[in-house]
Amino acid sequence: MKSVSQSDRWREALKMMSRCPICKADYEPDAAKIFAKNETASLVHLTCQGCGSGFVAMIVLLGQGLSSVGMVTDLNFADVERLHTAESITVDEIIDGYQFMLQDEFQKEATRQ
Ligand SMILES: [Zn+2]
Repeated sequence: MKSVSQSDRWREALKMMSRCPICKADYEPDAAKIFAKNETASLVHLTCQGCGSGFVAMIVLLGQGLSSVGMVTDLNFADVERLHTAESITVDEIIDGYQFMLQDEFQKEATRQ
């Protein structure tokens, strides 16, 4: 039996997410690209060839097993590479953004036809 190297174990987890959750098309073999990893976890971005949607998965190596969690995203691979190290948005920034959107000027622009 061929042993799988530690660095390629994340590809095993991809078998669990073999198709696009949006359009159900099977992912192409080159759809998955790794954009960050450490000793136990890998972050992988998949692009669907069928509908173009993105999917980000975190694959964690647990002893002899694998675990994964993922989400649909509108980020492409370049976006996730650039943004995964960015600082998190704060609660204060969210409140500032919400208050900005409540301003009359913003409301007029947003609802202008
Ligand atoms: Zn798709």
